[in-house]
Parts: sequence; structure tokens; C-alpha cells
Amino acid sequence: MSTNGNKKIELPVSIVVRDLAQKIEKSPIDLIKKLMTNGVMATINQSVDFDTAAIVVAEYGFEATPEVVEEIKTETGEVPLWRRMIAGEDSSQLKLRPPVVTILGHVDHGKTSLLDAIRQTDVASGEAGGITQHIGAYQVEKKGRPITFLDTPGHAAFTQMRARGAQGADIVVLVVAADDGVMPQTREAIAHAKAARVPIMVALNKIDKANANPDRVKQQLAEQELVPDDWGGNTMVIPVSAKQKQGIDDLLEGILLVADNTEIKANPNGKVIGTVIEAEVDKTKGVIATLLIQNGTLEMGDVVVAGIAHGKLRALSDYKGKPVKKAGPSTPVSVMGLSDVPSAGDLFEVVDSDKEARVIVAERVEAAKAQAQSKKKVSLEDLFANVQAGEAKELNLIVKADVQGSLDPVISELNKLGEGEIGIKVIYAETGNIGENDVMLASSSKAIMIGFNVQAEVSARRLADKEGVDIRLYEIIYRMTEDIEKALKGMLEPEVKEKVIGRAQVLQVFTASKFGRVAGCRVTDGELRRNAKVKLYRGTDLVYEGDMGSLRHEKDDVKEVKQGYECGVGFKGFSDIQSGDQLICYVLEKS
Ligand code: GDP
Repeated sequence: MSTNGNKKIELPVSIVVRDLAQKIEKSPIDLIKKLMTNGVMATINQSVDFDTAAIVVAEYGFEATPEVVEEIKTETGEVPLWRRMIAGEDSSQLKLRPPVVTILGHVDHGKTSLLDAIRQTDVASGEAGGITQHIGAYQVEKKGRPITFLDTPGHAAFTQMRARGAQGADIVVLVVAADDGVMPQTREAIAHAKAARVPIMVALNKIDKANANPDRVKQQLAEQELVPDDWGGNTMVIPVSAKQKQGIDDLLEGILLVADNTEIKANPNGKVIGTVIEAEVDKTKGVIATLLIQNGTLEMGDVVVAGIAHGKLRALSDYKGKPVKKAGPSTPVSVMGLSDVPSAGDLFEVVDSDKEARVIVAERVEAAKAQAQSKKKVSLEDLFANVQAGEAKELNLIVKADVQGSLDPVISELNKLGEGEIGIKVIYAETGNIGENDVMLASSSKAIMIGFNVQAEVSARRLADKEGVDIRLYEIIYRMTEDIEKALKGMLEPEVKEKVIGRAQVLQVFTASKFGRVAGCRVTDGELRRNAKVKLYRGTDLVYEGDMGSLRHEKDDVKEVKQGYECGVGFKGFSDIQSGDQLICYVLEKS
């Protein structure tokens, strides 16, 4: 034992044996032996809890204290506002609050069924029929402790919240069907939860099915770095059947355990802030919004600003529709009295007066305008600047490829590039075209989208423009690695960007002796230019991309055709045109 007293060491709630050995600079074998003499059998890859770790490190002369949990940050590197507020509270005023849980998972794996099954366990309400109200969130009690569930299945709401920096949930329950296993949206949900640094536990659903295969699912989860606890990992995997209402109690108990391992606190007497869960206009009642209080206590008559909506709260009711006068941290309430419909994910706060509310709203409207004009895009070009400014140490990427066979080499090449000073983190990788969900994930994670031998859907491109997401499509691996390598070194040439200058709709197709098949179009937007490039879409499929072969207005060859006019467009070496196709005309610009 050290003569200078014990050496201090901070330890997390659980730690893998290998990491613990490294932390105290001892050999893992030695540590495993020490654990054994204390009656704990653990392999190098298994985790031990804080108490166990504290006992063994004491034998090496260390005094363990619980690690101060680093503030949870959004991927923008910002701590969500409400967490910052709580961090600013006098710690002696912080009280435990109910955990807020969101359920994510692949479509049809049973999110809605599970939320229904949990809702029906609500014996605490003591009312026949339980909860009939649907306000986007509800609470149940387990062992006398309330748990709040966000009743907005699918990760759209969760992503929206994250994109706005609100981050409503403390725990993610990932539903995986035991007969289907880990699927694309399961991986997407894992990526979301990890990026938001929210603890994940797994509800292994449909365990009643004859073809349920829990071991296979556990294997797949382990491959996603969610090693089940009964396999020595840290992820709680709870078998349930939402349909037969089995395992629901275990799930709720599991949630409480995870909650106990996470500091879930707020100051009920502090500044009132929270997140808008959902909002709508009712013909007779006006705007009705569901608010989740995250700090402080919301009371009837409070003046609230939510996004760019504001108002004095006229009525509050709980998730059962019962009028209440006030609501504390982690409680969802339905409120009336707001001037406008706020967006899901908007933060709300209580202010002193209506006048103050108006000033804040006016400022926000101005700020939103300014932001829309200069939406900060994480592009490869910006990356080096950010690195130099010390803002980025890691490049987040989302990768979509045509087939698994190309996804694997793409990821391994990218990982190789990330071995230098700036790391590369592939947040999510999947096969298939780039869709809106991918762009949303990229936006909320400040990631760059890489497409390999795939297209970006039109809706995804539009969203990417709006959200400022950089989509990069490649067909040759070395082109991709070259680009990223250059970006990492700050040598990337200005990218040549496509600037859309006009759109047209194909109304009919005809054959001209001179030009072959020609699209008879009406220009719906901007203009078509003879020397510009065009893309022809059929639905979301890109059917032609390249130069224009001819552009005619009535009988004349023309250089351009403006919005509202009709024209004939021929394509070089392409004749499979159909009426209803959409034409996009663009020029290439260096940024
Ligand atoms: P969601 O898309 O994830 O919300 O999935 P749903 O809750 O809508 O469930 C999809 C389908 O799976 C429905 O037909 C449910 O009845 C069924 N289902 C959900 N949970 C279970 C379960 O535990 N066992 C069985 N056999 N079917 C289930």
C-alpha cells in the first residue's frame, strides 16, 4: 500500500477488465487473478461493476470514486439546452426524476404493440380501461416509481428532437423481433441512440413465435457492439411478447435498473424548461400541445415560449386527460393557450411576462431567417478548417452502398484513412439508395453522406439541401478515398457542385425526323438552357443524366426557354422518354 495514502482513481459504473487493468497499469492476467481471489470469475472482455472494481483496485493501493459522468452532448458538440440548465442548477437542489424512455426499432417488430402492452399494465391509474387519451407520452408505475414513455413510435420524433438539440429521452428501448433479428432500421436506431449517447436496452419481442431465435438475435446484437449481459456484456436483453403481454414487468424493472445506473435528475424548483412532444390545432379548443417538462415545475397561468409559439397556459391535463394544476420534471402534460403550433422537438421555457415572450419570439424569427441564409453545412471542404480551429477531431460518415459486397471494402478503406490524426467514424452503413431517413441521421449527427454505386432519392436530395447535408456519390473506391484523404489533409479542390436552374414536366413524347424522340415539356420552374446539363427522373428513378441534344421552342432552335413556356427537348443517345417524367436542368459550378 502506498505510504502517501491511496492513489485516487475515477471509475465508471461498469468497466471491462482489460480497460481496468490498463487504467491501473497492471497486467490483465494479474487483475483476473485478484478478481478470482475475491470470488469474481471474469474474463478479460467481461465487465465488472463499480463496487467490484473498487475492491480490487484498493488491493493495488487505489481509492476509487465514481466517475463524474461527462455531459451528454449532441453531435453538434453542444450540450442540449435543458441539460446545460440542469448542469447550472445548484447540485444540492437536484432530485431524482422519472426516466424518459423512447422505443425504437425496425418496422413491424412491435413498437406500437409494446407501447400498448406497457400502457395496459397501468394498474396504478386504478381506472377501468386505463389510459384512453393519446397525447404522445404516458407514464406507468413500477415499484411505486413512475416511468415516462414517449408514445411516438419510430425515430422520426426522436431524430427531430436530436436535430433540435433537445434530446428528450434518457433511455432507448430497442425492439427487435426474435423471429426476424437485427434489420436495417434496427441498425439505424442503434446509430441514433449511440450518437445521442443514450443508453440502449433491448426488448427481444415476439418470443412467443415458434420460429423465434433469441440466440441468433443476441449474436447479431453482439455484432453491433450491444453484447447481451448474459453473454458478459453491458446490454440488457429482455425477452418479451407484446402480444401475449409476457415479460413486460421484467422490461419495466430493467428500465429502472438502467435508470439507477444513470444520473437522471432535475431541480423541481428551478427554471422551467422542456420539450414539445407533439402539437395540433383543435377546431374548438385552439392549439393543444403535449409538453415534457425536463426541469422545474410547470403551472397553470405560466407564460410559455415554445419555439416561435407563446402564450399563457389556460389548462393543463395529464396523460389520462385529468386536469392538473402543475407538473414536475419528466411529466408529460397536455396544455392549451399557445398562440401557434410549435414543432415536435422544440424547446419550451417559462418566462416572466407576455411582453418578454413576444420579444423572445421576435428574436427567434429573426435568428431563424438568418440561419436559413447561412445554414452551416458540414462539407468535406469545411472539415479541414474545422480541424484547424480545433472544432473537429473526427469525421462522421454515413455510408450507403449497392450491395454488402461493396459496403465491406468501402468501410474498411474508410477506417484505414481514419488511423491518422483525425479519426473517421462510420456512424451508420447500409445497403440501398440514400433516403430521407439517412439524410436526417446525417443532419442530426453532423455527418457526411457517402453513396457508393447508389443514387440519392429526389426527396432525400431536397432534404439534404434544406438541412445542409453534403451528399457525395462515388462509383470508384479510390476516388472516394482520394477525396477524403485530401479533405483530411486540407487539400481538397473546391468541389464542383450542381446548381439547378430549371425544372420541366414531360407532357408528351413525339418523334421529330431530325432529332429522333423528343420530350414535349412545360418549364415549371426557372429555365432550361441548351448548353446546360439535364437529368430525367421517372418517379424517384433517374433515367437519364447528361447533355441536352436539342432544345426547340415551336419550330426554332433556342438557347433557353423560361418558366411557363413549352418546348421540345432531345437527349443525346437516349430515347426512352415517357410522359410524366420530370426534367431537371443544371449547371456545374465551382464552390
Ligand atoms: P411496429 O411497426 O414496430 O409498431 O409493429 P406493430 O406493433 O405494429 O406490430 C407489427 C405486427 O407484429 C402486428 O401484426 C402485431 O400484432 C405483431 N406483433 C407485435 N408483437 C408481437 C408479439 O409479441 N408476438 C407476436 N406473435 N406478434 C406480435
